[in-house]
This record gives sequence, structure tokens and C-alpha cells, in this order.
Amino acid sequence: MVRLDAVVAALERLYPPELTESWDAVGLVCGDPGAEVRRVLFAVDPVAAVVDEALDWGADLVVTHHPLFLRPVHGVPATTPKGRLVHRLITAGAGLFTAHTNADRAAPGVNDALAAALGLHDTYPLVPAGDGDPARGLGRVGRLPEPEPLTAFVRRVAAALPVTAAGVRAMGDPDTVVETVAVCGGAGDSLLATVRAAGVDAYVTADLRHHPSSEAGESGGPALVDVAHWASEWPWLPDAAALLTAELSGAGATVETRVSTTPTDPWTLHRTAPESGADEGAHAER
Ligand SMILES: [Zn+2]
Repeated sequence: MVRLDAVVAALERLYPPELTESWDAVGLVCGDPGAEVRRVLFAVDPVAAVVDEALDWGADLVVTHHPLFLRPVHGVPATTPKGRLVHRLITAGAGLFTAHTNADRAAPGVNDALAAALGLHDTYPLVPAGDGDPARGLGRVGRLPEPEPLTAFVRRVAAALPVTAAGVRAMGDPDTVVETVAVCGGAGDSLLATVRAAGVDAYVTADLRHHPSSEAGESGGPALVDVAHWASEWPWLPDAAALLTAELSGAGATVETRVSTTPTDPWTLHRTAPESGADEGAHAER
């Protein structure tokens, strides 16, 4: 058992607030700094299904990657979905803490976890944080143990991440050889030009839009592998839980941690063609 303020301090040592983008909102959303924390649930999204899971388990703190509030609010009435969520947490005596772009840029952070899940090694930031720490920054670039065709790489990505209805889709010649890979957990099409300049064979990210992707293909960019946003950030959760446990145990404190496996990808249905019988997994071969 440990006080919430000590858990927050440990989380901020792991995910320094100064790494946060100016538009972002991270840190403690609700919770009494003097409250005792026994159980901490880690999840990607602060949504009702995650709060159900947290309260069923008896969590005292929920740590999410995505912020609950990104824009200023004038109230948290329980008549709104977000206000309801805050009420449920406070009524149960549970806090909410978010580590978003600071966790993206931290080392180890969200992008190290994604790179490790894909088996990449010799990783370095795609966009260095500029704070003098060569390991911190946005995205990661790394190398596969062996070169492999894009079809095999897509299978690798699908096997490494939690299953979602949308699955994994890719753009590029199926036989193109992939050895160097850039990754960016979450929405990464703003980094397409940077990825092209990095000269990698493939880029794994989420929420790739039609026009930027099409233009990247027309200009001879790398193969693009588009995964579910939630799935791209999920590998961070077990890392963060283990790091918090270690950080607190160094200070003589213990908490019980749990990683949410509740899928919070908003997309829940996917078909490749009407009545084709095609399912997820099959399209990776095409
Ligand atoms: Zn995200």
C-alpha cells in the first residue's frame, strides 16, 4: 500500500510531464493525493468499459494512455459520458492518471513497447526529443532479425498485437523485402514525410488516411502497415505496469497491477467482401 501522491511521483519519473506536447493534457485527472493505493489498472482508453473493469476489480487508480479531457470543461455532471465516468471513479474512491505524449516520447515508452512487440532491435527515435537524451522522442526506427517479404511482415504484426475486428492492412508490393521498420503508436500519418526521409522499408502506425497514404505510395515511400489505434498502443500497458512496480519497490512500496484486456477499439465489425466468407487473417495473404 502506498499513497496516491507517491504513485503519481513514480509515474512522473517514468513519464516526465516535460516531454508532453503543448496541446496535450496529462497527469492526475481525479483522485485524492493522500488516498491509499493498493491496486492499479492500466488501460489505453478512459471509457466506461474500462471503468467497469476497474471498479469490479477494486482498483484504487486507473492509469490510461489517452486523456479523458483534452479541452477545458466547465463542469463534470453525471449527465454526460465523461462526467459520469468521473463520478463513478470518485464515488468508488478511485483516481485517474493519464500519460499520453509524454509516454510516447519516454524511453522506455509506448513506441519502445511497439517496436519490441514486432521484434525490432537497434532502435532509435524517429524524431529525437531534442532534450539531449538520444533514446527519447517520437516513434522508433529499428531492424528485424532477418529480412522478410511484406506478406510475412504483415503476419508478424498481426501476431504481435491484440486482435481487433479491423485487423491489419498494408500498402505495397507483397514481395517487397522488409528489414528496416519505423513505428509510431497511435495516429502517425503526420510523420509520413519523416519516415520517407528515414529510408525505412516499412512503417507501422494507425489511423492512416487515404490521401496522405496514397501520396506516400505515389512518391515511392515505404510499405505502410495500418493497425488499430488501440492495438498499436496496448503493448505499452504491461511495460508500464512492470516499470511502476519496479519504481515503487525501489522505494519500499508495493502495489498490485493489472493490464486491461478489454478491447476498446471503437471498430467492432469488418468484412472484406459481401458473402465472400473472407475473414480477418485471410486478407494478409492477398
Ligand atoms: Zn493514441
